[in-house]
Amino acid sequence: MIEVQRLSKTYTLGKVEVRALAEATFSIAAGEFVAMMGPSGSGKSTLMNLLGCLDLPTSGVYRLEDRDIQSMTPNQLADIRNKRIGFVFQNFNLLPRASAMENVELPLLYGRVPDAIKLAREALDRVGLADRAKHKPNELSGGERQRVAIARAIVNNPALILADEPTGNLDTAIGEEIMKIFNRLNREGVTLILVTHEREIAEHARRVIQMRDGKIIEDTVLQEADSSC
Ligand code: ADP
Ligand code: MG
Repeated sequence: MIEVQRLSKTYTLGKVEVRALAEATFSIAAGEFVAMMGPSGSGKSTLMNLLGCLDLPTSGVYRLEDRDIQSMTPNQLADIRNKRIGFVFQNFNLLPRASAMENVELPLLYGRVPDAIKLAREALDRVGLADRAKHKPNELSGGERQRVAIARAIVNNPALILADEPTGNLDTAIGEEIMKIFNRLNREGVTLILVTHEREIAEHARRVIQMRDGKIIEDTVLQEADSSC
C-alpha cells in the first residue's frame, strides 16, 4: 500500500536548514499495524505528514496505493486525503463549537456524500458514542473527544489511518480503551500507522519502526503473543 524510497524533507527557516527526514526507505503492506517510535524531534510527525499527503517531500519517492504522490495536483492530493486517509491527532483537533455529530460529518460535507447523517451516526456508534452525538467537545472527556476524532477519521471508510500520538494526552487506562478501538479497526482491515512514545502502546502493533535524527534506525516485526506459555 505504501512504498517510500529515499524520502527526505528539509525545512528552511531563514538561513537555517533542518533535515527533518533523511532518505527514509520502507514499505507497508495493506492491513499492517505499524508503530513509529523515537525521541522528540526525530522526524516522526514530518514522516506522518508526508504519508498523509499533508506535505510534499524535498526529494525521494512516495507511492500510495500505486500512485505517485509527488506528481499529483493539490486537488488530487486533497481528494486522496479525504477519501483514502483518516487522521487522528494528539490534541483531537475537533471544532469546538460543533457537536460530536457535526465534527464527524465534516469530511463527508467536503465530499458531498449523500446520507452524511446516517454515516456519521454509524461512525459514532462504532466508537461507542452514539449517546453523545449532540455534545460539544467541552462537554466530553478526553477519551470521548478522541473517540469522536476516530469516528471522524473512519466516517469515509479510509484504507489508511494515521495517528500521531493519539494517546499522548490521555491517562493509561483511557489510552488502552483507544487502543482497543484501533485494534478492532485493524482487524477489520484498515492499515494503521501510529506514533507513540509509550512502549505499552507500541506493543499493540505488529511492527515497530524506530527513528532518530530523521533516519529510520530500526524496523522490527514483533512476535505474536504466544498463547502456549
Ligand atoms: P517528532 O514528531 O519526531 O517530534 P518532527 O517531525 O516534528 O519530530 O520534527 C523533526 C525536526 O524538524 C525537528 O528538528 C523540528 O524542529 C523540525 N521541524 C518540524 N516541523 C517543522 C516546520 N514546519 N518548520 C521547520 N522545522 C520543522
Ligand atoms: Mg511529533
